[in-house]
Amino acid sequence: MGVFPIDPSEEITIDAQAKAMFTNRRAKSDFKERIAIFRPDEYEREIAFHRTLTEFQYALSNGRITYYLQPQVDMETGEIIGAEALTRWIDKDDSLISPATFIPALEESGFVMTLDKYVWQGVAMWLRERIDRGLRVVPISLNVSRVDILACDVAEHMGALAAQYNLPPELMRIEITETAYTGESEAVDKLTADLHTRGFSTYMDDFGTGQSTLAMLKNVNVDVIKLDRTFAPVDGDQGRSAHIISSMLEMAQSLHLPVVIEGVETNEQANMLRNMGARYAQGFLYYRPMPAKDFEVLLDDGNDN
Ligand code: C2E
Ligand code: MG
Ligand code: MG
Repeated sequence: MGVFPIDPSEEITIDAQAKAMFTNRRAKSDFKERIAIFRPDEYEREIAFHRTLTEFQYALSNGRITYYLQPQVDMETGEIIGAEALTRWIDKDDSLISPATFIPALEESGFVMTLDKYVWQGVAMWLRERIDRGLRVVPISLNVSRVDILACDVAEHMGALAAQYNLPPELMRIEITETAYTGESEAVDKLTADLHTRGFSTYMDDFGTGQSTLAMLKNVNVDVIKLDRTFAPVDGDQGRSAHIISSMLEMAQSLHLPVVIEGVETNEQANMLRNMGARYAQGFLYYRPMPAKDFEVLLDDGNDN
């Protein structure tokens, strides 16, 4: 039974009934507490979830979903070695909505696949256009959600996209978040193998945020590791976190796995990391995510090398 308490003098409204029915869903799956009482926060979350989905659909069909590009650099030379495509939702007032606020709802509902395919295609079109104009391009990293891996054949889709836009696969790098490697290990193993067969390289994103151990790296078939932002050393820190990073770097080196450090924000961090043998970084110190137009200017100026 789902209960939305009202005062005996109140009339039963449609809204009150809807709230009771909503609460009833929880009672159905809770075998210990068969009588569930309405929780306003739970209801608010549900409303926000549906609002996000409805508005996302609208934003997508109105060209309000796009992607920014954040350059990845070689810390030794400053050269731009690639960029990551990061989705952005442009709100009605032209402010940007961060993916962290809408991707969870899209993942829960499966619609993240619609978003991802849209972003991947946008990037493929952008690369083709640059190549056609004879302009410089660098490989672009594309984020793949755990849900995409379960819901579609990502390797086949990427292959078809590369064929459609006549792109060499080296220009599209596939980022798979670390938690997918542990949670969905069989599907991810198959996906990375299929991607490799088609000539794509794979990046393990957010390394260090899941339950992975360094030892697990031996067993996964990945080309590059992206060390999560939470591991970027704190300025002045010579202690434990610095040791953790340097042993991660050593381990990766012994496995011949290149590492990209995410979230490098200060010169001090960059120097520390370079002293530990890190070479590649993606962080605000170098560049923030930017519209493709701004990234084009960077590439065209070629001041990075
Ligand atoms: P991610 O793939 O790990 O992307 C890196 C995130 O770190 C980006 O956040 C980027 O703006 C941020 N970042 C980079 N350098 C710095 C730094 O120096 N300091 C700080 N504080 N942050 C930095 P963003 O764009 O908000 O994206 C968050 C996450 O949302 C991404 O993490 C990724 O997991 C997901 N995401 C973004 N775009 C897409 C997409 O198109 N598809 C899917 N499936 N997920 C996406
Ligand atoms: Mg990523
Ligand atoms: Mg990451």
